[in-house]
Parts: sequence; structure tokens; C-alpha cells
Amino acid sequence: MIKPVRLLLLGGTTEATEIARILSELPNVSVIFSLAGRVRKPIVPKGEFRIGGFGGVEALREFLVREEISAVIDATHPYAVRMTAHAQRACGQIEIPYLSVVRSAWRPVFGDQWHVVKNVGEAATIATRLADRIFLTVWRQEITTFADYTDPWFLIRSIDPPLGPLPPRHELLLQRGPFSLVEELRILNDYRITIIVSKNSGGIATYAKIEAARMLSIPVVLIDRPAPVPGATVDTVSAAKQWIYDVVL
Ligand code: NAP
Repeated sequence: MIKPVRLLLLGGTTEATEIARILSELPNVSVIFSLAGRVRKPIVPKGEFRIGGFGGVEALREFLVREEISAVIDATHPYAVRMTAHAQRACGQIEIPYLSVVRSAWRPVFGDQWHVVKNVGEAATIATRLADRIFLTVWRQEITTFADYTDPWFLIRSIDPPLGPLPPRHELLLQRGPFSLVEELRILNDYRITIIVSKNSGGIATYAKIEAARMLSIPVVLIDRPAPVPGATVDTVSAAKQWIYDVVL
């Protein structure tokens, strides 16, 4: 019997789940699906999986050798720069193929009022300068950046409860996307939101808030994407599938 090709799939995105499904249908391919463990109830596809950091580049390299991994597909969140850098370096050191799957960023269209910023600190400065009822849709570990802003009121949306101190005037919505346009319009209206803070996640699952903001002429402070990674990168699941056929199988 031919030994199966063994892949490491770094997850956390809808693309990762979809790639896992595609790989599960291929004969003679075995996959380890890996998650950071950032959410309490992660969505894990069928098959072999692990949760939690590897412990840095050296430990990841050892993991790849021990598990006889022949290629790494990195479908982490577009802002997960550390994991991506570690995976690229570890693959480079043992000379196995590495692919980054990063969905395209949203692009502004007519009517969008975007303030593009470099990081969450800049987002806090600008959003609190421009408005006083702020819809925060950033990652739960980043909400603490807004904790010292005592005057504005915040609507904080997060899958799990935020970590660290929160701004004193806030309401918490514990929800997981995808979100519809109707839902987002209702939230913006009901809570009288005057600005949104978001990452440029791309994709459709969380795009409705951007559309709703456009319809209601509400500005959006958008934290820009990190610099693109060098090396093999694709922006769709179908391109990732093609890469797997071309390079790995
Ligand atoms: P990161 O900062 O690039 O990763 C930090 C560390 O977490 C990595 O060095 C690695 O630990 C571990 N890690 C990350 N992804 C992993 C995976 N798939 N499998 C195993 N270990 C993994 O990425 P992040 O902490 O996930 O988040 C960075 C950004 O992503 C945030 O700014 C946030 O906006 C966004 N985000 C992430 C998630 C999520 O679920 N991960 C969800 C929403 C948003 P070791 O060095 O120990 O190997």
C-alpha cells in the first residue's frame, strides 16, 4: 500500500474548514487540522486535529519532522502574522512546500466612508475623536485598548467574552457570524451607532456591517491588512486545491 501524503492544515477560517473537507475526499491524503484555540467552542472538521500553539518555530519544525508532514497549508486568519511567519520559517528550514491562503481584503465602493488605520491603537484614537457611540467588532483580546476611553459608549460584539479591562460605558453582544444585512441594519439603528471599528477581514461572513454602514452613511474605522507574505499565496479555496494537485500530490 502507498504511504499517504501527510499535510498540516493551519485553521481558524472558513476557507480552512472548506479545504479540510476537500482534502478528506482525496484518496491517500491524511491531514492534521490545527487551531490556535482562541474560541471556546471551535468549529473543527471531521478527522485528526490538534488545538493550541506549537511553542515557536523550532517546536513547529520538530512537529513537522515527527509527524512526517510533506506540506503545510496555512489558512489562518488574515491578521495571524506570527503563525504565518513561524510556519514559513519552519517549512523553509526542512524544505517542504508551504502555501498561504488569504482571502482578498474588502475594497471600498461608492458611498463607503472608511478611515483606514494601521493598528487597533490608531483605531481607538480616531474612532473616539470622530464619534461617541462606537460599534467594536475587533478581536476580543484587543478590546482592552479602548478601556481608558471613559466618555464614548461602546457596543462590543465578540464570540466569547472579551479578555482584560473594558471601557466603562458599554454593552456586550456575544454572537458568532455570519451576520445578515437585516441584522446589521437593525443593530446600527437600535443602538444609534455613529461609527464602526473593524478589521478588513474580507469574505462575506462579516461584510454585511460594511454594507449597512454604507446604507446609513455611518463611517467605518478599518484596521488595515498586514503586509502580504512572500512566497506561495492564493486567495481562494479552489486555487488552494489546484496548488495541492500541482505541488503536493
Ligand atoms: P498569531 O498572532 O499569528 O499567532 C500567535 C500564536 O498562536 C502563534 O505563534 C502560535 O503559537 C499560535 N497559533 C496561531 N494560529 C495557530 C494555529 N492555527 N494552530 C496552532 N497554533 C496557532 O495569530 P492569532 O493569535 O490566532 O491571532 C492573530 C490575529 O488574528 C488577531 O489580531 C485577530 O484579529 C485575528 N483573529 C484570530 C482568530 C483565531 O481564532 N485565531 C479569530 C479571530 C481573529 P506558537 O508560536 O506557540 O506555535
